[in-house]
Amino acid sequence: MNPILTEIQELLEGRAEGRYGLSLINQQQHALQAAWLAEREARGDAMVTAALLHDIGHLVHDLGENPADEGVDDMHEALGHAWLIQHFGPDVTEPVRLHVAAKRYLCAVEPDYFAKLSPDSVKSLALQGGPMSADEVADFEAGGHSAAAVQLRRYDEQAKVKGLQTPPVAHFMPAVERSLLG
Ligand code: FE
Repeated sequence: MNPILTEIQELLEGRAEGRYGLSLINQQQHALQAAWLAEREARGDAMVTAALLHDIGHLVHDLGENPADEGVDDMHEALGHAWLIQHFGPDVTEPVRLHVAAKRYLCAVEPDYFAKLSPDSVKSLALQGGPMSADEVADFEAGGHSAAAVQLRRYDEQAKVKGLQTPPVAHFMPAVERSLLG
């Protein structure tokens, strides 16, 4: 198997036992639920891969399980993006890079979105800059991959269901493999 696939599978299977923020599920369950939502909606390999790996930045740094609790913005979307661009194209990496911006965007444009956020998302939102300004909204919409980033953000928010059964990590690895560069 391609070594990067082995590395990804090991990250998700081995280091993902930490809790996901303040929610009752772990990082691995969160990643699998997000990927499964994308797969069931037939969003394609790149979105399944982006959903599976959107929080890989949490797994490749050592800031602890929930840095937002300590008032730290861990910049996990930037860390994840920096790691992913070595192996994937923009259809995967741009939604990941923008998935926190997409939360700030949705808080600005959908009046009821903030009320639906989980407690950990509310906590990190303030550290990430709060809802977007009108100028930021315009820039976000004009940029590429904003629709995919919003879609990924919705999976992210839905993928926090305690006890929900999903396929295992290995189930999603073929989609990851098909999304690899070169
Ligand atoms: Fe997430």
